[in-house]
Amino acid sequence: MNNQTLLSHLRNVPDFPVPGIQFKDVSTLYKNPRCLRIMVNELYELYRNRGITKVVGIESRGFVVGAALAYKLGAGFVMARKPGKLPAETLSQNYMKEYGKDTIEIHTDAITDKDVVLLHDDLLATGGSMLAAYKLVQQFKPKDVMVNFIIELTIEGLNGRSVFPPEVDITALLKI
Ligand code: AMP
Repeated sequence: MNNQTLLSHLRNVPDFPVPGIQFKDVSTLYKNPRCLRIMVNELYELYRNRGITKVVGIESRGFVVGAALAYKLGAGFVMARKPGKLPAETLSQNYMKEYGKDTIEIHTDAITDKDVVLLHDDLLATGGSMLAAYKLVQQFKPKDVMVNFIIELTIEGLNGRSVFPPEVDITALLKI
């Protein structure tokens, strides 16, 4: 029922940003009060007993529900950002994108070895960007790291999960 509500409000934009891509536009979930509440409440139920102390949101669509969830879990919120955006000292991780290299950064004082971390982004496609974020968070040697998406794309043979080590706990609210 909840999933149907989310699915029915998710906008698909064909051929964005390039021809052939079916872009899943979560802005239509974020702007809808019912959908926003469903997403945050469902994730809260999934993670409320996991001892999470930090939610790390991936720039920028991972910030919206990530921050709301952190608030509800009583955890802190950490921004994983594109290079050059964070003002203080950072740790970084490079990764390959379809066209060229990219980098993701987190402030060095944002996570400690006492944290239990939940990584959050809007969508899992190839898994490349979240894997980089996962490796970046592992540099901080936290007690545990879990991974969550609102949407997991499994169409067209995509299997983003497969790029992660098998022991990583990965969840998604919607599988499309
Ligand atoms: P990937 O690293 O391939 O898993 O790509 C995930 C990132 O790219 C997420 O931050 C998504 O927001 C974005 N993304 C990739 N493919 C799509 C898609 N079909 N629709 C919406 N966002 C996408």
